[in-house]
Amino acid sequence: MSNILFQPTACLHCQALLEESREMGNFCSLSCFAAHDRSYGSLHDYKSGMYARPATKAQAEASAAAALVDGGYGIIQVDGVSCFVQP
Ligand SMILES: [Zn+2]
Repeated sequence: MSNILFQPTACLHCQALLEESREMGNFCSLSCFAAHDRSYGSLHDYKSGMYARPATKAQAEASAAAALVDGGYGIIQVDGVSCFVQP
């Protein structure tokens, strides 16, 4: 039995399922760890508020720009879905 009760089962960066060995902790690869480390915030679904995935630099910038004109929500369209970026 492995002790996974208090650990996420997916990579914190790309959401890929983690291998049982977990050599990279909560990340599937060193590149994901590095990418997450310089994260631009997290992308959330606007309607549900649910976390979707890490935001890209472009999304973070677009959300920051949108927040100036939409009352601070920073709503952007990602794949046709209203989202916001949580810095
Ligand atoms: Zn990953």
